[in-house]
Amino acid sequence: MESLEQLFEETVRDIYYAEKKILRALPKMAKKASSPNLAKAFEMHIAETEAQVQRLEEVFELIGKAPRGKTCPAIDGIIEEGEEIMKDVKDDTVRDAGMLAAAQAVEHYEITRYGTLKSWAGKLGMSDAVKLFDATLKEEKATDVKLTDLAESEINIEAEEATAAPAKRAGGKS
Ligand code: FE
Ligand code: FE
Ligand code: FE
Repeated sequence: MESLEQLFEETVRDIYYAEKKILRALPKMAKKASSPNLAKAFEMHIAETEAQVQRLEEVFELIGKAPRGKTCPAIDGIIEEGEEIMKDVKDDTVRDAGMLAAAQAVEHYEITRYGTLKSWAGKLGMSDAVKLFDATLKEEKATDVKLTDLAESEINIEAEEATAAPAKRAGGKS
């Protein structure tokens, strides 16, 4: 990789691969979520992710390249961890907490990528691409905030209450 332009293109391909992988994972997560609010949050992000894939296709068009993903081992690993939780955790409430955390790991990966791509697009003088990355970056950040709120107002509380040690559950000191 000899130029920032090439690095930019490779990174667009990285996040394109990641978004498509996320688009396949989210419906499974929505189905497996036991909290209706968590399922709703995942479902809402499916629609947003579809638009994000389209924005990336617009970026490919701007650089005159066919949309093509490049394997991203980071997102593969993050999603694999999430799948392990979905498969291995038996308690519904604890599994929801684990899936929510896995989803936040995904959002954080996306936030780093889109933040970087927005800066690089600016440096490369691609103002249309800056706007596209910024729109997606805002959605990923909002999703992360929403998931934190949901974790702290519902999901973590239920997981803790459902699985607390008996003494604590009875109101005693743990
Ligand atoms: Fe995304
Ligand atoms: Fe990657
Ligand atoms: Fe996302």
